[in-house]
Amino acid sequence: MRSFVGANWKMNGSGVEGLAYLERLKDSDVESEPVDVVLFAPFTLLPVLAEDAREAGISLGAQDLYWQDRGAFTGEISTSMLLEAGCSWVIVGHSERRNLFGEDDELVRLKLIAALRAGLRAVLCVGELLEEREAGRTEEVVKGQVLRALEGLEEADPDRVVLAYEPVWAIGTGRNATPDEAARMHGLIRSWLSDMIGEMGAKDTRIIYGGSVNPENAPDLMTREGIDGALVGGASLGASSFLQIIRSCCHHHEH
Ligand code: PEP
Repeated sequence: MRSFVGANWKMNGSGVEGLAYLERLKDSDVESEPVDVVLFAPFTLLPVLAEDAREAGISLGAQDLYWQDRGAFTGEISTSMLLEAGCSWVIVGHSERRNLFGEDDELVRLKLIAALRAGLRAVLCVGELLEEREAGRTEEVVKGQVLRALEGLEEADPDRVVLAYEPVWAIGTGRNATPDEAARMHGLIRSWLSDMIGEMGAKDTRIIYGGSVNPENAPDLMTREGIDGALVGGASLGASSFLQIIRSCCHHHEH
């Protein structure tokens, strides 16, 4: 299985910075690494970066989408617009969308279905809040998110969907889940997937970790059984730290 590493820039970056960043990835020959690298850039940068991303051998993704294809939805963006902008991946259900902008599981599912039907690939994010963890509800919350997004969804094959386990208390806080705890949650997520889509599909689905991944903690996290890559926010903004994280994931692959 190829590892997957995503850079989630959130509401950061500019065209000039983005082009310089891609130049660095190209010079570092990221293309030859046995890992799928996707840059999730702000919408307006997608067409600006498309050609250089292709030359650097990485894919472009969007951070969100809307599930309707056109119409009176001021401020929203559709799958066909994303495809035209040169992107092939999209994040669905990021915790910032869920918690700051009120997206519920039903909307996340509609977005996931729209993305997959349009031929985009998707990173589906799940993860518990700190208060949910402290109340001992982590497993129930994450299982609910996984099931409500994916149950009965025929389009959700391992080629097209990556799951990201991102405990919300670990995102942008500098506080990451211990590799043991992350690996335990990944194992559980894979077992729920197995119940839904069968053992083979679950085995082939990449489950990546997100939450304050950086060049220091990545080697330990990425060598754990069942952790197939990373979704990186803060530490993906600089090309050199992101490159170091990519390399940690490659070593995992060689084992
Ligand atoms: C994220 O945005 O998905 C994320 C994991 O952010 P950070 O790496 O900054 O915690």
